[in-house]
Amino acid sequence: TTFADFGLDSRLLQAVGQQLYQKPTTVQAKSIPLILDGGDLLCRAKTGSGKTAAYLLPVLESILRRKQASSSPCISALVLVPTKELADQVLKNIETLSAFCKDLRAIKLSEKLPDSVQRSLLSSSPDIVVATPSRACVTLKSSAMSLDNLKFLVLDEADLVMSYGYEDDLSSIAGSVPKGVQTVLTSATLTPEVDTLKGLFCRNPTVLNL
Ligand code: AMP
Repeated sequence: TTFADFGLDSRLLQAVGQQLYQKPTTVQAKSIPLILDGGDLLCRAKTGSGKTAAYLLPVLESILRRKQASSSPCISALVLVPTKELADQVLKNIETLSAFCKDLRAIKLSEKLPDSVQRSLLSSSPDIVVATPSRACVTLKSSAMSLDNLKFLVLDEADLVMSYGYEDDLSSIAGSVPKGVQTVLTSATLTPEVDTLKGLFCRNPTVLNL
């Protein structure tokens, strides 16, 4: 398999080429077609497996297609992560992979920011928001962020998200996203807690146990 086989936008392929990725990793080869096909996914994958690009590439591809079809701005994807360090890393990955997509914007909400800063971030019409569950929850409750047009929900490192005690925040977020949202969970281990999240967020997901 090559990245070109996935039918990705040429701007994404250009970014992948710039990263000198020779070919998709196993998790990428399995996940990218599944996500592009619209299904929910629970993927057991460790850091270092290429799991981030495995969900970001198809999510970016779908957002590019969506933006081409309609120009009204909205948050299309919410990526929930356990720590602000991972939020930094995911945002950096988005910026790298979307380097040639001029009008695609991503922000992160992973720590308490002054209201004015947060407001200006959110008013910049982001397509993707990367957040810890607690920041996402607070921002949603204050009505500063609308997920009415959300298409993707990603829970990265779901096992850690659960071990940090974000369960209540996640239940609340689950109640704030539209019904048809496509969900991707990644986790290094498939624990009973991850199973709870699967039940909360996924509809009939494919489970990749790599
Ligand atoms: P991750 O598992 O997402 O934390 O990624 C681990 C590292 O692998 C990151 O530094 C990525 O830039 C890199 N990476 C992701 N996909 C590929 C690929 N297909 N080929 C080589 N390196 C990759």
